[in-house]
Amino acid sequence: MRLPLLASLLLSSLTGLAQTVTPSSTSFLLRPAAVFDGETMHPGWAVLVENDKIKAVGPSAQLEAPAEAHTLELPGLTLLPGLIEGHSHMLLHPYNETPWNDQVLQESQALRVARATAHARRTLEAGFTTARDLGSEGAGYADVGLKQAINQNLIPGPRLLVATRALVATGSYGPKLSADVDVPQGAQEADGVDGIIRAVREQIGKGADIIKVYADYRWGANEPSRATFSQDELTLIVQTARNAGRPVVAHASTPEGMRRAALAGVQTIEHGDAGTLEVFKLMKQRGVAFCPTVAAGDAISQYRGWRKGQDPEPERLQQKRLSMKAAKQSGVEIAIGGDVGVFAHGDNLREAEQLVQDFALPTLQVLRGLTSTNARLFQLPDRGRIQPGLLADLIAVPGDPTQDIKALRQIRLVMKGGVVVKQ
Ligand SMILES: [Zn+2]
Repeated sequence: MRLPLLASLLLSSLTGLAQTVTPSSTSFLLRPAAVFDGETMHPGWAVLVENDKIKAVGPSAQLEAPAEAHTLELPGLTLLPGLIEGHSHMLLHPYNETPWNDQVLQESQALRVARATAHARRTLEAGFTTARDLGSEGAGYADVGLKQAINQNLIPGPRLLVATRALVATGSYGPKLSADVDVPQGAQEADGVDGIIRAVREQIGKGADIIKVYADYRWGANEPSRATFSQDELTLIVQTARNAGRPVVAHASTPEGMRRAALAGVQTIEHGDAGTLEVFKLMKQRGVAFCPTVAAGDAISQYRGWRKGQDPEPERLQQKRLSMKAAKQSGVEIAIGGDVGVFAHGDNLREAEQLVQDFALPTLQVLRGLTSTNARLFQLPDRGRIQPGLLADLIAVPGDPTQDIKALRQIRLVMKGGVVVKQ
């Protein structure tokens, strides 16, 4: 009597094991009206996916699919690489719902993480299969756990590159209450050689894919931003991160903060609201890309009462126009990222739309920006294009997104790593 029982237990556990470790290979043949491969449109092309990778791409008639491949007919749709969000904060939600200070000081980590799980799902459903998440803003290393939960398929979400706590010079960030109370900060304070080396290594050890540094900020309320870290400190941050194979991104809005960050060798500079032609030329010369986050300034101005389309543009946005004009003139590389979290997750496309509509960037440049350019600037050679061997992160939209960026609002299919997550 004992033997058959044992045998059946063994068999069932083996069967269970077999199901977990050897999933059957899955192939998809996707037949849209056209393929945008990250660079150009190809009408009549199709894409073959095997497991989590793109196996082949080319004219539909020339593509041989294995017999067991599932065919996905996508008539009238353009298939393109999954979009890449250049600047998100999964652990923040719009400031008109709750001001930033209150999110940092009054919301529990559990509440913030629960929200973030919904943000991750909305981001993915909006067609963004990768996001650079640039700072947990007081939520410690929760972004590392969020990324793990996505990677372990516990919750749907994009592939995350996380910056964890971010670095600020002591006293330069917030929240600030009275001088008599030390309150939790929205980023990690670090200064000087020992302090900076330690903080960078600590963040990397706990899971940071990217080091984010605030190269300037306003030291007090109602004053302009000024450079915070010294040139030596910024250079040390970049060197320490580079030793560990991590890029550094810098928040900087002032010419001096941007100049120091560019000289230090950061990968991208975020915001650049007061950027000058001179500093953008320096960035171009140093191979530093610019992520203008136009949607964030636009959203914050509206939260403060500006009625877009009716009122004259506030000074902040007029300044942004000058900065964007200088950036375009300089030829600096432009990354696409909206600082989403300031506005609603899932509304990520806002940045791309505003770059086209309000700042006259060519639609094709912005579409490449969301796919192949962001991938190149963020050093992600395994995605952002439709090419054999790259990750099968694909989306489908009606019409021609190279003509109308708003086509990306109508996401009809999202595939991540060869798995259909939305159709
Ligand atoms: Zn940000």
